[in-house]
Amino acid sequence: MDHKLYIETPIYSSHKLKREQQKNIFYKLDCYQPTGSFKIRGMEELCRFHFEKGKKNFIASSGGNAGYSLAYVGKHIGVKVKVVVPKTTSAFMINKIANLGAEVEVYGNVWDEAHRYAQKISEETGAVYVSPFDDPLLWKGHSTIIDECAKQIQQPDKIVVSVGGGGLLCGIFEGMKKNGWKSTQVITTETTGAASFYKSWQAKEIIELEEISSIATSLGAKKIAEKSLELASHFNVKPITVSDKEAIDASFNFLDEYNVIVEPACGAALSVPYFYPELITENETVLVIVCGGANTEIKTLLSKK
Ligand SMILES: *Cc1c(COP(=O)(O)O)cnc(C)c1O
Repeated sequence: MDHKLYIETPIYSSHKLKREQQKNIFYKLDCYQPTGSFKIRGMEELCRFHFEKGKKNFIASSGGNAGYSLAYVGKHIGVKVKVVVPKTTSAFMINKIANLGAEVEVYGNVWDEAHRYAQKISEETGAVYVSPFDDPLLWKGHSTIIDECAKQIQQPDKIVVSVGGGGLLCGIFEGMKKNGWKSTQVITTETTGAASFYKSWQAKEIIELEEISSIATSLGAKKIAEKSLELASHFNVKPITVSDKEAIDASFNFLDEYNVIVEPACGAALSVPYFYPELITENETVLVIVCGGANTEIKTLLSKK
């Protein structure tokens, strides 16, 4: 079975930002993936790899887009998926995952507890433990974003990408290397309360955050994948942080521009063209990775505005 579950997503150039700011902004619309986010790319790569080795059981501990994409891929490939989520996970997301036939177990008050419990089950049962961001198979899958972009547009001057645990970022770096885009600058975005990459990059070593305090829950990894920091040292990287308010406002701006809801995690990247015009000059081309996110109910988003 070589049929791809993830789709080749379109790139649109922003007519709004061209007219208002004379800027050349390209949006890579992974919000249009069947699961609403790029996560499906890595999950498909990972699942197929293990499936071909005979694995039929998978377990994850993400109540967000990683668990959701794993459930989607598992359903279509025909493997069993269990997702352990902490009590903080919304009924909205639990239902979405359960609708795909995955087993959802609520365990622990915070993600770390659900994570340790899922790892224990994995050891006891032999189910494949699936990390939300720290696995070379995920990075390989995510790198297909840049493969597609390289067919769709000329090499951009800058790429803007949100960072949670750094899995997407590793994929972007891998794709840039593959496609000869190494000279492009990468602007990484996080919200101030989830700046695990920003802080680690400044310190030149992995810094573990004591807590996450951000609306952008999909960026809420206390500790980034080591590989993301290592790879970053070989690229031209400019990490920035944005406020929760900017991330939310950017999501609404994007809703107005394209009629699609994205998470504040994605809004963090969209904040650059909308609210940080000084980071982009008029003759530059900028590729913004619209990572998407299905974990946003419109009424929740409205209540945070
Ligand atoms: C997972 C996710 C991120 C962050 O990706 P990492 O690989 O953890 O850095 C950003 N935005 C959305 C919508 C996500 O689902």
